[in-house]
Amino acid sequence: MAGRDPADSYGFVNPPIVRGSTVVYPSTEDFLARKARYTYGTQGNPTIDALVAAANTIEGGAGTVVTPSGLLACTLPFLAHLSAGDHVLVTDSVYRPTRHFCETMLKRMGIETSYFDPGLGADIESLFKPNTKAVWTEAPGSQTFEMQDIPAIVAAAHARDILVMMDNTWATPLFFDSHRFGVDISVQAGTKYYAGHSDVLIGTVSARTPELYAQLRASWEQLGIIIAPEDAFLTLRGMRTMAIRLKEQMPAGIAMAQWLAARPEVARVLHPALPDDPGHAIWKRDFTGASSLFAIELAPVSMDAVAAMLDGLTLFGMGASWGGYESLVLPFDCRAYRTATKPGFKGPTIRIHIGLEDLEDLKADLDAGFARLRATT
Ligand SMILES: *Cc1c(COP(=O)(O)O)cnc(C)c1O
Repeated sequence: MAGRDPADSYGFVNPPIVRGSTVVYPSTEDFLARKARYTYGTQGNPTIDALVAAANTIEGGAGTVVTPSGLLACTLPFLAHLSAGDHVLVTDSVYRPTRHFCETMLKRMGIETSYFDPGLGADIESLFKPNTKAVWTEAPGSQTFEMQDIPAIVAAAHARDILVMMDNTWATPLFFDSHRFGVDISVQAGTKYYAGHSDVLIGTVSARTPELYAQLRASWEQLGIIIAPEDAFLTLRGMRTMAIRLKEQMPAGIAMAQWLAARPEVARVLHPALPDDPGHAIWKRDFTGASSLFAIELAPVSMDAVAAMLDGLTLFGMGASWGGYESLVLPFDCRAYRTATKPGFKGPTIRIHIGLEDLEDLKADLDAGFARLRATT
């Protein structure tokens, strides 16, 4: 029901797509007092607010803003809540463009970033400095899927009035209730499972308290961040089926991870829902489900063999992003840019997203890929 009110939409189930910059006022008095439900296009409009309402409802936040990309949803909290001279701790497993932002624009603004081992948990305390203002978490981590002990990090950070921010895109609020675990700022790349069809770029940022929301919203307004109403509409449409898509994609992802774990060509599967994953205990304790994105480490083999395997796949596309209805693969190598930890991969690593295709068809596609891999040296 969130984000729609048929009584406000001429009876139609969904909100209309409202386009507009100017809002006209009936009188001078009203204009001078800005007496209107909407004052100008950059302050939001009914379509955007419908998405805000839906996103805030599923986050259980005090308030939410929406952004034109997931990346801007990641960078906005740094801009909104940090100032020159502050220090921020960022997980070494962070989404790489967020790291790039910290190393470029944030640095230029006089904010210092240091990276921490995602496995630290309560020991994060040893890295706090007098000027530490925030900890940026992401669980499981991008590419490498390390879990983080969010309750332990929240307890340590809040004892020192340090904010905890989280990129919760992997689990979505359906599978990790970040605000309930004390996360102050919760970020979603809505491009992924919210929109769900690889046809929209969008992000959401929700705040745990009204004070944090006021600060976040003020920065959102100051920067003039606004999204196209069509994108708000498409994201809302995607959100209506997100739970049912994930209900299909979660077991498909786990089944595929298990199938891959049993393959001789695979050295290791990185998926916190698998019982022998190092992050499994935390995942099981704090999360109520898993999405369908994970990674594998192959037994050592040439990149030519990896290319032979991946290039011939017919159902899996190769490309960034994920969370749509289609399956994807991509090779990655995180060793070059990580600084606090050095993942000890011996073979090539591949990220896999399982979409809504038939699981047996997907297995057959990968099975043929493994045959090409074995035939290439
Ligand atoms: C994709 C992604 C983002 C960024 O989203 P875009 O909409 O592509 O900018 C942020 N965080 C994570 C974990 C992501 O996977």
